Amino acid sequence: MVREIVIWPDPVLKEIAKPVERVDDSLRRLLDDMAETMYAADGVGLAAPQVAVLKRVLVIDTSPRQEGQKLIHLVNPEIVKTEGITTYTEGCLSIPGEAEDVERAAKVWVRALDYHGKPFELECDGLLAIAVQHEYDHLQGTLFVDHLSSLKRELIRRRMKKLKVEQEAERAERKAEQVKGAKRHESAL
Ligand SMILES: [Zn+2]
Repeated sequence: MVREIVIWPDPVLKEIAKPVERVDDSLRRLLDDMAETMYAADGVGLAAPQVAVLKRVLVIDTSPRQEGQKLIHLVNPEIVKTEGITTYTEGCLSIPGEAEDVERAAKVWVRALDYHGKPFELECDGLLAIAVQHEYDHLQGTLFVDHLSSLKRELIRRRMKKLKVEQEAERAERKAEQVKGAKRHESAL
């Protein structure tokens, strides 16, 4: 099931997510929903707080832009080692339409539990290393805009607030259309 992605600024995105105690069927449902939501939005990564679930859970699939990659589920991820520095123009599904250069480690080693609760360690470079750091940040209540100057961040915040007002108006309009539609249907009886 595709879930709704929370748009920044929203308080849930500033919370620190809680560790998962057990990888069971209900968690796997969350993982499946997150992957579906990520693919539907054409993203390469998604963190649970972005669908308003404060759990330390990530899905990442950089394969559209990085050869040899596939869907990865990361439960309770820990970045255990980093190496080098690189700059990448990042976007975020919670900050649609925006992209800015962010400096990150070029290579990271991450330890996590997989889809079945089995521990594994992964060496990541290229876009995968960026995605792991970006998504891990979400679990700490940090977004890529927090790596920017306050001026840039405020400009993006204003654009996002405007976007949210537009989305709300659209939603209200759709609802009104539905009510009208329902009434039409009633009177046709
Ligand atoms: Zn993001």
